[in-house]
Amino acid sequence: MTSAEFDLVVIGGGINGVGIGRDAQGRGLRTLVVEKDDLGSGTSSASTKLIHGGLRYLETYEFKMVGEALSEREVIMRSAPHLVWPLRFVIPHTPEQRPYWLVRLGLVLYDFLGKRKILPGSRGLDLRKEVAGDPLKDHLVRGLEYSDCWAQDAKLVALNAMDLVRRGGDVRTQTTVERAERIDDGKHWCVTLRDVVSGQTTQVTAKAVVNAAGPWADVVDGQVLGRNNPTALRLVRGSHIIVPKLYDDDQAYLLQNHDGRVIFVIPYEGDFSLIGTTDVEHDDSADRVIISADEIGYLCAAVNRYFKKQLTGDDVVWTYAGVRPLVEQEGVDASKVSRDYDFELDGAPGGDAPLLTVLGGKLTAYRELSEDAIAKLLPFFDGLKDAWTRHAVLPGGDIGLDIEGAKRTFAARHPFLPTALAARLVQDYGGLADSIVNEATSLEGLGIHLGEQVYEAELRHLRDHEFVKRGEDWLWRRSKMGLHLSEETQKAVNAWFAAV
Ligand code: FAD
Repeated sequence: MTSAEFDLVVIGGGINGVGIGRDAQGRGLRTLVVEKDDLGSGTSSASTKLIHGGLRYLETYEFKMVGEALSEREVIMRSAPHLVWPLRFVIPHTPEQRPYWLVRLGLVLYDFLGKRKILPGSRGLDLRKEVAGDPLKDHLVRGLEYSDCWAQDAKLVALNAMDLVRRGGDVRTQTTVERAERIDDGKHWCVTLRDVVSGQTTQVTAKAVVNAAGPWADVVDGQVLGRNNPTALRLVRGSHIIVPKLYDDDQAYLLQNHDGRVIFVIPYEGDFSLIGTTDVEHDDSADRVIISADEIGYLCAAVNRYFKKQLTGDDVVWTYAGVRPLVEQEGVDASKVSRDYDFELDGAPGGDAPLLTVLGGKLTAYRELSEDAIAKLLPFFDGLKDAWTRHAVLPGGDIGLDIEGAKRTFAARHPFLPTALAARLVQDYGGLADSIVNEATSLEGLGIHLGEQVYEAELRHLRDHEFVKRGEDWLWRRSKMGLHLSEETQKAVNAWFAAV
């Protein structure tokens, strides 16, 4: 066995694990993040992908959480504008819903709490006169419109990990934390890691451990950390369906369902609509999360109540599901359990080395949650740098908010690239697109062509910098190219990763 010394070991490479790791490394803590599968392979790639305050949380009076999340929207958008962009949401109104004036008032409050500088405010809509009304049933005449943001969730995870490594930290994927125990009279941690592929175990020592295992936090608590009273988490499954696009325009829809829940319909990957989500108690392991036939029926029915085009299960081209790791609130309905986050701290300065467990959270709140996590660890470390992530950009995020302009200048710099490929590279990699093209002056310079404008240069970047180890990590997680590419090209991509 080999050994190494870290200030901090973070268990879990979801958005919270890498967010905390990046923040810690930037403050001067030598940090290791360990992920048992691919980065973001848990909940963080299974979200609705909204960077939002959560309009519906106003109903449960969670004003503080909504206000904080709303002000994070523009912070996160500026950090990676190619992966996070504004979206207008249309709410078609029907008489059986909450009164129109109440929804309008809620949106005014949402605008107010949001401290917007970039995003436009809300407004009422006459659906008979707006394109947003075209795909909807004719009896829907009134609506409202507001702003939130949308994010490539799994890619956001990868960029945080990439930044952590650029700042000198370490990220190990396909590596399970098998055991973590205090040693040296409780002053340090000894953490046992197992490489999932080779089966080899390694031990590292650390001054602090963060359990950011999301829905696995209680399993890690009990089985890895050997604690007697594992944290109580409630797993609530949320599933999504992808269908061929229901309409051509850019707006998303928030549909108020008859059971009081809301369902989003979001333009997805150019050719598709993303529909979700559900709230179902999940009694199985967090390793087995699959949409049920009932959930598919439920989501289709919700859409069919509003849209002219009627969906059946046969329209579904892809699905994904994840579990929300919510902090247990006994007797509270799954859809009403708070989405706010919390921490449990075990250890004391001068005494036992700290173990910080992250509970709950939202994609939207990851940066703030990470700052708060480090604040909890501050008393255990001397001389840490101040909080720094609010104004920092993520790798490739240095292209500014004018993405279309960035695409044009990139295409002009590399005139040999087909227009669609140039646009996709900027959309997916932002300012890093140039480093993928590197010094190539012709398509041959990008290496082997695997089909449909996928070149080896891109796969090399993904392997060397974005922790992609298998074709599926890119085809279905960092990107959704799996929805667009032929089986033949996907096979070639899988084979390329398997061979390296
Ligand atoms: P995860 O992403 O699950 O990461 C935990 C990681 O720990 C996993 O990758 C797992 O493999 C790893 N792990 C577990 N055990 C070990 C071990 N022993 N060793 C090493 N690694 C281990 N939030 C929003 O802001 N907007 C939304 O639109 C939104 N929509 C959502 C929709 C759904 C259906 C769900 C389920 C959640 C949604 N969320 C949303 C919430 C958000 O996705 C989660 O809060 C967030 O992704 C949680 O991230 P995490 O890092 O805590 O957990």
